[in-house]
Amino acid sequence: MTLLNLAYYCNATRTLGPGQRFVIWVQGCCFNCPGCVSPEWIPQTTATLVEPQKLAEYILSIPNTEGLTVSGGEPMLQAAALSQLFSYLREHQDLSIMCYSGFKLQQLQAKIDPDINQVLSLIDVLVDGQYIEQLDDNKGWRGSANQTVHFLTSRHIQEDHLFTERKRDVELHVKDDSVLMVGVPPNNFQKDFHQICG
Ligand code: SF4
Repeated sequence: MTLLNLAYYCNATRTLGPGQRFVIWVQGCCFNCPGCVSPEWIPQTTATLVEPQKLAEYILSIPNTEGLTVSGGEPMLQAAALSQLFSYLREHQDLSIMCYSGFKLQQLQAKIDPDINQVLSLIDVLVDGQYIEQLDDNKGWRGSANQTVHFLTSRHIQEDHLFTERKRDVELHVKDDSVLMVGVPPNNFQKDFHQICG
């Protein structure tokens, strides 16, 4: 069985895609975009290893979950584990699945990798491309305007404007002695937050 190397997760949010969503952030990225919102999840180190089926069962146990969003880190580096996770979820519930990737869709398709192809066949929305700070237009569920929102199914086509035009917001989830920021932050939010909170 392939294990998923997980950096963090959030049971429920409304700031990373339509509806109430479970979010996972995978550990490890092959890019190093200046201004990356989650630099601590770039190193390709071992974080928390989880069995895809166990994670899927946990996701399905959270009441009112409408979808799953996968971010990171670079999800496609863990396509084998994600394809198992998505397949199990879809076998049991018709959840919406949204995924970010620093790779462009054409690059992923050109890899001719069965696991990546399986992932692409199971997700509804792919937000692709690396984050470019100078093109961050402070809108939507994508980090910068060079990134493309691909609707790989028709599930969210009616809400397409939200992905690129929506006013950004974040939720702050407090757990033990740490604060997790969930969402694509408005410009300067992190700087202002650290100034206020020290
Ligand atoms: S692809 Fe995403 S996670 Fe990777 S460095 Fe760029 S912004 Fe960060």
